[in-house]
Order: sequence, then structure tokens, then C-alpha cells
Amino acid sequence: MTNVAEIYEEMTYGPAPEDASYVRDWLTRHGQGFGFFIDGEWIKPKDAAQTLDSFNPFTEEKLATISIAGAADVDDAVSAAAAAYPKWSAKSGHERARVLYALARLLQKNSRFLAVLETLDNGKPIRETRDIDVPLAARHFYHHAGWAQVLAQEFPGHEPLGVVAQVIPWNFPLLMLAWKVAPAIAAGNCVVLKPAEYTSLTALYFAELADEAGVPPGVINIITGAGQTGALLTEHAGVAKVAFTGSTEVGRTIRQKTAGSGKKLTLELGGKSPFIVFEDADLDSAVEGLVDAIWFNQGEVCCAGSRLLVEEGIAEQLIAKIKARLEKFRLGDPLDKAIDMGAIVDPVQLTRIRTLVRQSVEEGAEKWQPAIPCPDTGSFYPPTLLTNVAPGNTAVLQEIFGPVLTVMSFRTLSEAAALANNTAYGLAASVWSENINRALEIAGHIKAGVVWVNTTNQFDAACGFGGYRESGFGREGGREGMFEYLKLKDEWMTQNAAVLPSRTNSPIPTRHMQGIDRTHKNYIGGKQKRADGGNTLVITAHDGGVAERVGKGNRKDIRDAVEAAFKAAVWGTAHAHTRAQILYFMAENLSVRAKEFQSRLKDLTGVSSRMAKKEVACAISRLFSAAAWADKFDGLVHAPPVRNISLAINEPLGVLAIVCPDTLPLLSFISLLAPAMAMGNRCVIVPSQRYPLPATDFYQILETSDVPAGIVNIVTGARDELAPVLAGHVQVDGLWFHGTAQGSRDVERLSATNLKRTWVNNGWARDWFNPAKGEGRQFLREATQVKNIWLPYQD
Ligand code: NAD
Repeated sequence: MTNVAEIYEEMTYGPAPEDASYVRDWLTRHGQGFGFFIDGEWIKPKDAAQTLDSFNPFTEEKLATISIAGAADVDDAVSAAAAAYPKWSAKSGHERARVLYALARLLQKNSRFLAVLETLDNGKPIRETRDIDVPLAARHFYHHAGWAQVLAQEFPGHEPLGVVAQVIPWNFPLLMLAWKVAPAIAAGNCVVLKPAEYTSLTALYFAELADEAGVPPGVINIITGAGQTGALLTEHAGVAKVAFTGSTEVGRTIRQKTAGSGKKLTLELGGKSPFIVFEDADLDSAVEGLVDAIWFNQGEVCCAGSRLLVEEGIAEQLIAKIKARLEKFRLGDPLDKAIDMGAIVDPVQLTRIRTLVRQSVEEGAEKWQPAIPCPDTGSFYPPTLLTNVAPGNTAVLQEIFGPVLTVMSFRTLSEAAALANNTAYGLAASVWSENINRALEIAGHIKAGVVWVNTTNQFDAACGFGGYRESGFGREGGREGMFEYLKLKDEWMTQNAAVLPSRTNSPIPTRHMQGIDRTHKNYIGGKQKRADGGNTLVITAHDGGVAERVGKGNRKDIRDAVEAAFKAAVWGTAHAHTRAQILYFMAENLSVRAKEFQSRLKDLTGVSSRMAKKEVACAISRLFSAAAWADKFDGLVHAPPVRNISLAINEPLGVLAIVCPDTLPLLSFISLLAPAMAMGNRCVIVPSQRYPLPATDFYQILETSDVPAGIVNIVTGARDELAPVLAGHVQVDGLWFHGTAQGSRDVERLSATNLKRTWVNNGWARDWFNPAKGEGRQFLREATQVKNIWLPYQD
């Protein structure tokens, strides 16, 4: 037997297993299998034969029989949530806060049970479930109890959405449940949540806690099953919002299937996050950071730092340190408190990891794994380094969702940023340097929703989490996360009024056209350009008289416009003050020419002089508002309960496409363009199809207002031909669409190509004259995405 003195010498750990007997007793009590938690009761599935087994990924023993919800079960759950909604949403914020607080307390009181249950079910180390998953889940309910309490004051004019469908993955089952359920019910919604098929158990135990906490029946409903159940739930007509976390592939399907349904959608998808180490980093800290970045949770983390980018001069040294650290790594029983890494969630995932690594090696990667013991049972995969990888290597491009790190080197900061951004994803990044200037400079360049400086994988309920690009859209946590579960009251006016019917009778030539060719061109890259092929559209005024001609833009014109916008990236980094000045200048120049625009509107749309005057005056005011907001839509500084602060910065989306309605053709055009510009986006805008001339007249305002080339690109033509091209274009980052319900559906469906952010009207018209509906924070939020930069900070 080893004595204490020898242990001091060898520094070997003894086994430190956590007791799981009381959790196993609970499972035994449910030996017949779990039903669904619907309307505050445990309900047996309609089809009892539809079940799946949940396994312990370490021992491979069966833990429980899980029911699979079919269409009728999903219906029941959605109906229960819908029935509970009127009462729950009518409760005061304080009443809801008390329920969330009770849930937070119960999570804390049951924390050991939950940690053990999660570890048994998922295979992750008890050290992590105990210290990270469960405390963070409780923190989420506390934080959102707070939002419920102050909701009326902090979100005036907003209301909840109704029934929310929530589908979560298996990597952080309880934590993802908390991220989804807490904000939803705090805002007054009722939820139906479906956990992932491998890991349903903590959600089912949570249902018992919800009952104990006094959550009214129907407010939280838990159903189980696999992808098919998820599809039934997310596509259910009674659902007002879908919140999904999981693979980009399924996220894309959900985007397509929910298109045009009017459902609000948030998607938290995959990632391929860079972990960047500069020469001046504290290398030992960086190595420990890396352990937390890619070997935390077996690498089954959407924001895992799976791509190490290291400055060339220290690459060899850093790799040696990583290897030395991994030689001491401990794989083993996830219930042992002294292990580093547990089991992969399921043999299916293990096979996926093996396949991707094999493919990467076949493509030239060199694989290194430490010579450490690996348990004989269960799904284990050792920590793995892949060096000598080319930028196009499978392991560099694809999310592996396992403990596998690729290594590449860089020479300059800009090369590091280029490599970091060389991915379709944009979830997170970690930057290591003792030089704050360098760390912050690269943090600004990285396209990701979270950047950790000298730390990694930090999360907090106050700090919004979510992706750029194909990592999805929407945020979870913080103020921005609350907006995802709320809507503006009376945001829209009437349906089918945004698009005016084209005149079908033959146009009568009028005074405008006689004898002169006045074809308005497109406006691309700061220049007027004839539409491709010289195609034109005749624009008829309200009385049927021909007004003038405009170019009939096509796919090629859109491509050119997007290209011009893409190249004008400097606008996003221009000072807000500069953008404000330009917007003021545009307003001033529009004022100078107000009379011309008034008579244009009068002749074209048939409005009275008074209304034309009002529209131009309101458009000028709107430019002033956008200028005002340019330097006032500030970010936030969060103080999470760790030694960090997080700077939540509102960044532009990038290339923002805007498709305008026909109503109030000048005012709606300006109301959409101005806030998009103010926030630093480069715009491709399709003006009113029926009345595009106020927008083509606006070229001269742009030219005389120092608007840099490529910031505003205008393509005239048929809305429903141009919008789908914009929606499918992978260089367009966001799309605002005002047209028909069918057009909105097409835009949402096609936007799934690169998962661009969309904001569509579903055929509804807006009250553009009303400043509460035609300008303000909602527009600014739609024009931006929040990046959280976490910095070390201690006072
Ligand atoms: P997945 O996207 O297949 O499953 C996530 C959830 O969606 C599960 O609850 C699943 O039952 C459900 N689902 C599956 N198909 C559905 C559909 N058509 N409609 C509605 N819901 C559906 O992810 P997975 O199988 O658990 O993992 C596969 C890959 O996804 C991983 O290897 C990883 O790359 C990625 N992933 C990402 C995250 C993340 O947090 N971003 C989490 C887990 C997995």
C-alpha cells in the first residue's frame, strides 16, 4: 500500500468518486420510464411504444426509458402552454419574479443531485457539472427573476409573445434549459421545451422542481423525443417563437421550415472558434486557458477554442508545453472529482469525431495524442493535437465537437485576424497577450459574438451570448436576451397595405416624359449605372400618367451593388461622429431641395401638398434622429461575478440589404436607410417598386453630402425578383424586407443560405409618421449585433 510520504513524492491522485446512490434511487423509482410534464402533470405518451433509451456514456448502462412525443403529445403540450398564457402574461413582474426566484433557490438546494444526474447522463466530469453547469443555471434564474421584477419599467411598450418552443442540445442540458426557460417565462411567455435525446434526465428532474416551486400548470411543459419531435414542436402552428441551440444544419432547416410563419426565431449554432496566442502572452496561463477552451466538456462545446493560432516565434515552445500538460491529463470515471475529461456523450458522437480526425489526417494533418491511460468502457476520445494543417483542412473548417485542437501559426496581427475570420462561423474567440493594445486591436477585428481576452469559456447571465454569421442570430442573457422574448405592442398597422398594386391600364404619356429620355439609373459604388442589359420599367403616377423610367435591376445589378457595399467596409469603423455629420448633411441637403421632393411626391403619389410637405419634413427629421443616435446607441459594461468585466459593443451587421414598401416612398426609404447607415452598415437598398422616383432623386443628395462610395447602393426594379437574390446572397449579412407576406416567406426561407439576420413585415404596413413606430431603438437593434469582449478586471 502507498503511504502518504510516497504520495507526496509521486503526486498521484487517489480516486475521489461522488456518491450517486440517491440519484440512482430516483431513477429506479422511474423504472417504468418517464412521461411528459404537461399542464403541471406527468402525462403518459399517446403512443406508449414510442420510446428511446438513455445511457450512461461511461458505464454504458441503461439509465432510463424516455418517451417520444408524437404529434398528439406535442399538440397537448402547446395547448397547455397556450391555455396558461393569458394568466401568466397578465401577472405582475413581481409575481413572476417570485416564481423565478423560487426556481433559482430550488436549483441551488438540489445542486448536488443535479450535478450527479447530469454527469451520469452526459458523461461530463462532476467537477464541471458541480462548479459550472448547475451554479450557472441557478444564476440564470436569479438574473431573470430580476428582469421579471423590472420588466414594466425597463421594457415599456413591449409585451410577451405567447407560446415558445425551445429545443436544446446534449452538451449542457440543464444550463441550456436555464438559458431558454428563464428569460422566456420572465417576460411572460409559456414554454414547451424539448431536451436532446441523449440527455433528457435533468430536464425531467427540473420539471419536478418547477412543480415544487409553484410554477403554475402549463407555464413550463417538458416533452421528450428526438429530431422528429423537435420538428413537430418547432413547426407547430400554435407556437409564436422558436429558440433553438444545436447544429448549424438543423438550425438551417428550422429557418426554412418556419419561414413566413411570423414566428420569432433565435438560433445558437455551431462554431470553430480561434484561440490566439501572441508571443508576449503568459504561456503557462495560455496553456491552462487552452485546457478550458478545448478540453472542457470533452470539447463538446459550441464555442470551444478548437483552432489554436500561435505566433510563429513561440509555436514550438507552446506546443511543447501543451504536450507536457496533456501527458498529465486524466481521463476516467466522470463521477471522479479528480479527472480532467469524461466520456463522449454517445457512441454516435465518438464515431463522428473519429471520422473527422481520420479525414483530416488523410488530408495531411499530423495527429498527436498523449500516452495516457484510457478507460476500457465507455466512449472516450483522448485529447488530440492536429498540426501541419492547411487552411482548407476538414478539421480546420468543420466543427468536430470533440477534444481535438488544430494548430496553425501566424506572423502578424493582421494575419492572425484573417485566419481567425477564415470560417463560416462567428461564435467566439480567445485572445492571449500581455499587451492590452494588441489584445483589444485584434478583438475589434474578429467577427464573433464573444471575445475573451486572457481567459476563455466564461459565461454569465448578464452577458449576452450568441453568434455572428453561421453561428446563428439572437442573444441569450442580458438585456438583449430579453428582447428575444418580447415584441413591441401594435408594431404593425394593417395587413396588405405596404405594397400598392401596379396600374394595369396602359400608361398615358404625360408632361414629364415628352421628348426626353429620363431613365433613372441605379446607384452603385457612388456612381449612377445603367441597369444590366439596359432594361427599364415605366413608372406611372397615381393618375395613370407616365412619370419617368427607371432601370429594371436584375441579379447582376444586385451582385455589383453587394460587391460595392462589401468593399466599403471602412464605414463600419468610421467614428460615430463622422457618420452623424454625414447624416446631418444629408438632412440639410434634403431641406434645401424640400420643394422639389414635395412636388415629386404630389405628382407621383397624388397626395395633397400638405401631406407631401409633411412627408418631406418627417424624412428630414428622421435623418436628424439617425444622426442623433449614431453616437448614442452605446453598448454596456457588464460586471459578471468573476474577475472580469465584459464590454458589450453594438457592432454593425455589415452589408445590410433593405427592400422598401410602396407607402410613403420617401419617408419609408429614409426611415430604413438612415438608422442602418447610422449604425455603420453598408446598404443595398431596393426602393418602392411602385414609386421609386423619390429614391432616385435622392442620388443627388447622396452625392452632395459626402457619403462615401459604396455605403448606399440603390437598385430599382421588381421587389419580388430582387429580394430573393439578396436573401440568397452569401455576402449579405442582414435583410430588412417590406413587401407581401409571400415575399417575406421567400426572404426568410432563402436567408438560410448563410443564416443572415432578417427583419420582415409579413405583409403588414407600418405607421411611418409615428416616431414610436418609424424610428428609434428597435431599428438600431435590428441594425446591430452585440459583441461581448471579456477583459480581466479587478478593483
Ligand atoms: P442537433 O442539432 O442534431 O440536435 C440538437 C437538438 O435539436 C436536439 O434536441 C435534437 O433532438 C433536435 N433536432 C434534431 N433535428 C431536428 C429538427 N429537424 N427539428 C427540430 N429539432 C431537431 O445536434 P446534435 O445531434 O445534438 O449534435 C450534432 C452536432 O451539432 C454536433 O456535433 C455539434 O457540431 C453541433 N452541436 C452544437 C451545439 C451548440 O451549442 N451550438 C450543441 C450541440 C451540438
